[in-house]
Amino acid sequence: MKPLIVANWKMNPLTLKGAKLLFDAVKRGVKDIKNVEIVICPPFIYLSNIQYLKSNIKLGAQDCFWSERGAFTGEISPLMLKDLGVEYVTLGHSERRKLGETDEMINKKIKAALKVKLKPILCIGETEKERKAGKTFQILKTQLKKAFVNLSNSQIVNLSIAYEPVWAIGTGNPCEPKEAKKVYLFLRKILKNIPILYGGSANSENAASYIQEANFQGLLVGGASLKAKEFIKLVKNLES
Ligand code: PEP
Repeated sequence: MKPLIVANWKMNPLTLKGAKLLFDAVKRGVKDIKNVEIVICPPFIYLSNIQYLKSNIKLGAQDCFWSERGAFTGEISPLMLKDLGVEYVTLGHSERRKLGETDEMINKKIKAALKVKLKPILCIGETEKERKAGKTFQILKTQLKKAFVNLSNSQIVNLSIAYEPVWAIGTGNPCEPKEAKKVYLFLRKILKNIPILYGGSANSENAASYIQEANFQGLLVGGASLKAKEFIKLVKNLES
């Protein structure tokens, strides 16, 4: 299986021009890449302006709503994403959980995404406090259990999971591959056939170790995906 590298642009860049420039630079830099699956998740508002067609980059969204249609001011229907050619959607990112997104909401969003054949990337991870209290495995297990309520195995196989320790996101302090591997092995016992990604201060220097040493099937990349050169280098380091 090709490593799955997902760029989470979060709320960046701040202009459409900047978004187009970043996308075009990455597109040029990775045009010959064949052995890495690359997904870029820009802010919703840039999705329709990004010329992903005729490139080897797939589009992802950073969230979606749990209803396909209706009076939901400010929300984005999974059908709208599908219509723009979006293939993946990250759900349950810790930055969204922090703003009040619950496991129940995430469960509904996963179901809505699957219904229209978007591929959900479910983000799970423990906080620093939970890690220090030795609760990492317990937290991850609970997050998975609640996200999977009333989902059948044939639905779950269409997901990817991103293990993102909250304390490692955007801090420049990644979870060392040795420690991440222990979590990977724990998750792998629960999740039989689905890709498990690592996320949290991944960069071009450490990316390969998560895939080769810790056995993850890919990475969710925030900060390092906003610098074209760095992101291209990261992807190229994984092309074998
Ligand atoms: C993320 O946003 O999911 C993430 C992993 O960010 P960063 O790579 O900046 O830690």
